[in-house]
Amino acid sequence: MKTLLIKVDPENPSAEALAEAAEILKAGGTVVFPTETVYGLGGDATHSESAEKIYAAKGRPSDNPLIIHIARPEDAEAYAVTGKLYYRLARHFMPGPLTVILPKKDTIPLTVTGGLDSVAVRCPAHPVALKLLELTGLPVAAPSANISGKPSPTCAAHVIEDLDCRVDCIIDGGEADFGVESTIVKITGEDSLVLLRPGTVTYDALCCVCADVTVSDNVINKLKENERPICPGSKYRHYAPDKPLTLVGGSDEARIAFFAERQKEGAVIICYDEQAAKLMPDSVITIGAGDDLEAQGHRLFAALRECNSLEGKCVFANLPSTDGFGLALYNRLIRAAAHTVVYPDQI
Ligand code: AMP
Ligand code: MG
Repeated sequence: MKTLLIKVDPENPSAEALAEAAEILKAGGTVVFPTETVYGLGGDATHSESAEKIYAAKGRPSDNPLIIHIARPEDAEAYAVTGKLYYRLARHFMPGPLTVILPKKDTIPLTVTGGLDSVAVRCPAHPVALKLLELTGLPVAAPSANISGKPSPTCAAHVIEDLDCRVDCIIDGGEADFGVESTIVKITGEDSLVLLRPGTVTYDALCCVCADVTVSDNVINKLKENERPICPGSKYRHYAPDKPLTLVGGSDEARIAFFAERQKEGAVIICYDEQAAKLMPDSVITIGAGDDLEAQGHRLFAALRECNSLEGKCVFANLPSTDGFGLALYNRLIRAAAHTVVYPDQI
């Protein structure tokens, strides 16, 4: 398959530039587009065959459901059973990096929801994503545009690495703003929800809008044997570099000393800017200052991809705190590391 590459102005994309991509979506094809979180691999969400093309292009297991993207929060009415809490969340966080899981209507095929009777809905804030959705007039199913298991793509180069010749079109709209995927919540009652995947919309922000917010156990902890998660995606390995990754907790001094020792043995280190000065530069990848969680989110997936091009048999990175947006970084890294954590203070 030949992939059409379209470059657009991320701030102010013209309708002409996106017209061909919109036609491809309407005809049942696949189009990768930038969003404010990561790049998404889109197809018509009302069409089983489009969903099948998405699963095939990503190599994604078909029981791992897709998020549908809509141009306006109220567009959800046609595809899901909404309610007061949905509209309260929409008023505060949409358009933006929040996905809400709701009971599904028959307009969305079961192929899109991995056989579930619920559907995940998101209204993205990125000008390119919004304009594309407006032009198609369709709900667009779009998981992250990476090969299943790899880190999510935050720029067109990552997408091309994974999906060139596997999709009909890739829209290059520069770097994604946030760099980690949307926060996912499932509405469980009139004023209650479960946080299934942390993101830029934090636990504290959700608590300002909803009285009862529970964090799913799978956000931090490993799935128990034979456990069926509410969020099917959490049972699959994700975000991993090609080399095994270990997270390092404990005091600053102990972590630096540990990183320096592992470097001598040939490991790659993903660290904070201020830690890099104390390490050998060749095998270090920095992701921003230790207290700049936004910068870290923006760089994290690119850093996990960069590990693959450096020599070294294994990778070490700081174990993030779980406060605020840190919970999203913790959730992605703990899964990339398959829950392998060491505390050098305790060795
Ligand atoms: P991605 O599209 O790659 O960002 O991943 C989407 C995540 O949303 C996956 O982990 C899915 O399992 C999850 N998801 C999508 N739809 C649903 C749903 N109806 N119920 C629970 N989780 C969902
Ligand atoms: Mg994904």
